[in-house]
Amino acid sequence: MSTPFRTIVDTYEGRFSDGRTAAGLPATVRLVSQGLEIAPGAGQVPFVWSYRDLAAATPIGRRAGDVLLSCAVTPGATLFVSDQAFVAALADKASHLTTVSQRWRFARPLLAVCALFALAVAALWVADVSPARGLAGLLPMELRRSLGRQVVRSMSQGRGTCDTPEGRAALGRLTERLAVATGGKRFDIRVLNWSLVNAFAAPGEQIVLTRGLIEQAIGPDEVAGVLAHEMGHGLELHPETAIIRVVGLSAAVELMLGGNGGALANIGLVLTQLGYSRAAEREADAHALRILETAHISLQGFAGFFKRVEDRERGSVIGEIGLLRTHPFSAERARLAEQRPAYPATPALTDDDWRALRGICGNQPMHP
Ligand SMILES: [Zn+2]
Repeated sequence: MSTPFRTIVDTYEGRFSDGRTAAGLPATVRLVSQGLEIAPGAGQVPFVWSYRDLAAATPIGRRAGDVLLSCAVTPGATLFVSDQAFVAALADKASHLTTVSQRWRFARPLLAVCALFALAVAALWVADVSPARGLAGLLPMELRRSLGRQVVRSMSQGRGTCDTPEGRAALGRLTERLAVATGGKRFDIRVLNWSLVNAFAAPGEQIVLTRGLIEQAIGPDEVAGVLAHEMGHGLELHPETAIIRVVGLSAAVELMLGGNGGALANIGLVLTQLGYSRAAEREADAHALRILETAHISLQGFAGFFKRVEDRERGSVIGEIGLLRTHPFSAERARLAEQRPAYPATPALTDDDWRALRGICGNQPMHP
């Protein structure tokens, strides 16, 4: 018998993805008696995923800060909730999610990835890490590269890239110099003909630099600093993690397989709209300091550039996707760099190479 009283039920915020459309929608989630009541987007009719039909990307632990859920009756759809209280409440209602025996159900099974996941489920269970971050680490390099290429293609649409031979060669020498501290990882760097002052790490060790950023920099050490910071995001798989969080795992895998009919053509926007967390920024900065020090490039450019852009953006209307929004906490970054002991350094590029990099867009008109 059901009780005639309506009890007050806590609501949680999450992101719901139907697995087909571009990005996940913000959703309100409640744990009602029959299951999870999900209301995606404003004005949408809520629906219920029954507890027994739920599967979690990884078994949920009580200390876990977030959970990625799917439901057997709605293949492809995912719900991501980043809330420890939600995870704990869910563990009480759907105890099968807390056992190692539960499996992640793919909309379109991909054998290689499934096998890797099965192997890693136990490891994630022990480590109790964020599922999106854990899953990102399991993606094979080729899939991450393919996802990154789609992101870069999507960002460059309608803008075009800059690559005079001299500019490319100079950029190659800078990348080579920074690669001494990336554990053999070779980052692929693309300059876009875009007036925006920003840089983005894309999946699969790819980085986008804007023409605006290169023109705003007062020297090669500043560009090196920004690149080292983006490499830090790449080494920590922040872009991969962000994409899985926002679009859901099945959509991310579909993108990586390149089998997407354009529904996610704007995937690059996902990365340009996100600001990383303070923890992610700190991780990227720790890598940046180490990379620059190993490469004997001064930290002043690194600290100075972010700080200068922050001062400039603070005084004006902050652009939707300005550097400050996507890579916040500049003051902390500058402080960090100032505290490090001094060491012998040489300019990141020779004068000739710096001139070549400044001219990498040739005489193309600047794209807004
Ligand atoms: Zn950043």
